[in-house]
Amino acid sequence: MDSATDNKSNNNNYFYCKGNDEIISWFERSAENAAAIQRQTLRRILELNHRVEYLNKWIGDIRLIQDENALESLYATMVPLASHADFEPYIHKIADGEKAPLLTQEPITTLSLSSGTTEGRQKFVPFTHHSSQTTLQIFKLAAAYRSRIYSIREGGKVLEFIYSSKQYKTKGGLIAGTATTHYYASEEFKIKQQHTKSFTCSPEEVISSGDYKQSTYCHLLLGLYFSEEVEFVTSTFAYSIVQAFRSFEELWKELCHDIREGTLSSRINITKVRKTVLGIIVPHPELASRIESICEELEREDWFSIIPRLWPNVKYVYSIMTGSMQPYLNKLRHYAGNLPLVSADYGSTESWIGVNVEPSSPPEKVTFAVIPTFSYFEFIPLHRTNDDFIEDDPVPLSQVKIGQEYEIVLTTFTGLYRYRLGDVVEVIGFHKKTPKLNFICRRKLILTVNIDKNTEKDLQLVVERGSQILLSKSRAELVDFTSHANVAKRPGHYVIYWEIKGDVEEKVLGECCREMDASFVDHGYVVSRKTNSIGPLELCIVERGTFKKILEHFIGNGAALSQFKTPRCTSNQVLLRILNVCTMKRFYSTAYG
Ligand code: AMP
Repeated sequence: MDSATDNKSNNNNYFYCKGNDEIISWFERSAENAAAIQRQTLRRILELNHRVEYLNKWIGDIRLIQDENALESLYATMVPLASHADFEPYIHKIADGEKAPLLTQEPITTLSLSSGTTEGRQKFVPFTHHSSQTTLQIFKLAAAYRSRIYSIREGGKVLEFIYSSKQYKTKGGLIAGTATTHYYASEEFKIKQQHTKSFTCSPEEVISSGDYKQSTYCHLLLGLYFSEEVEFVTSTFAYSIVQAFRSFEELWKELCHDIREGTLSSRINITKVRKTVLGIIVPHPELASRIESICEELEREDWFSIIPRLWPNVKYVYSIMTGSMQPYLNKLRHYAGNLPLVSADYGSTESWIGVNVEPSSPPEKVTFAVIPTFSYFEFIPLHRTNDDFIEDDPVPLSQVKIGQEYEIVLTTFTGLYRYRLGDVVEVIGFHKKTPKLNFICRRKLILTVNIDKNTEKDLQLVVERGSQILLSKSRAELVDFTSHANVAKRPGHYVIYWEIKGDVEEKVLGECCREMDASFVDHGYVVSRKTNSIGPLELCIVERGTFKKILEHFIGNGAALSQFKTPRCTSNQVLLRILNVCTMKRFYSTAYG
């Protein structure tokens, strides 16, 4: 390829701005010129990675033609759509220390581990300086939009439930860990705090302790200690906030004791964490008494509105609440009382994608405006038929249509070319000229026995129907759920595992089971149930703490709590063993006779 393009003219589009107004106008300009910027982004990626082994295979020595429209269509014609499996051999070689430019010209020194909880398997993805820069950029941008609606005090604190996983070295000496871990360890994380003038309550030693229980305890302790100064509560995914406050319900007396005495529970046994936290807190008896009396009341009220009660200056709760986080919204609302819930941005280990430019939208309605400088995006139109998605040819960002569902394809600065991300989104409208996306679900079908096909979203809707019965007819609540398509015996059938908190009569659980079975609307499922080629749905009630064991299984394998998403369907034998050993009661649906 010929790299004769004028790079300088493009650089303004990538300019990292300083103040809130500047960053918003930078984005608004980018959004206004989204189509042209996307073409420039593609050109930049190709110029930077000219002649890397992967691209050579598809575009060889082709000259980089000047017309960016032509380049866009040439690229789509010559480079095939790919999945992670296509990049895996290259990434493995890089991990093993291969120095030749395989995916990028700039050497890759860090690898990110995707959470793997959606795919069932963790994947390595290249991570470069560009990855932390875009993380910083989207965080600054989102903070700027939030500040237009919810102003927060400069120099205030943030109660952030964030967790690094362990970083380790690959055979070839590259640093590997989750993307969030690399980010928390990067200069950009510090810059973000300076820029947004909001500072995390917990020091780095707490974030990177490597033991999520100890980190959670310290996050809560320091959050309480600085409670007057906390301006908002946040985490990457909503799950971590819910998990932290569930722990709080058990830990509050111990936390109050530590605040009163200026001590640290013996639960915390990591020396550097102990030393750092003890270096921060001093005895604070009045604060401890205030928290204690509020908690005594809160305990009677099932911890409703705990966040504003204990953190009186908090303006909002901020986290990813869409997609697989939606099932935690009820609990989050319960803890947040009347505080606004602000849904955080859309991205993946592979690339950031879109920013929430309307922070006051309720989480159920939130959309994400695509950031056209971050990666080159393509969209595969998906048409739903009775039993599957039918695909059209991918289109560039400039050609997406409102109301259409698409699978996202990424070409990144980190060496992924036409990479199918596997997420399904719907275009809801445009912000200037960049599409606003609604996250629908992961593309992969999760439940299928024969001709039936159900996605994560389908399952989520069905579980919501069942849990409404639970809520209305008992005092119990659904803590978490997953599912499995059991085809070991004929006819195969769906199994849904529920962990619940509170007492509930068996009759009600039987009703929940029946309702869920009857709520799958997929044609293939309904027909198969009617003809009994799929057997009655089985609802398994697992004992309390089962999903914590699942979390621990993932964390033990290198996942970080910050990126954890409960798998909504599993055929992983270890998980199934945990679920089956912990099953206390089973119900079979009576729907369909
Ligand atoms: P990871 O593999 O851990 O990087 O997780 C990335 C995946 O999380 C994305 O591909 C999405 O499926 C999901 N995700 C990320 N951000 C959001 C969001 N704002 N709403 C819904 N799902 C999201």
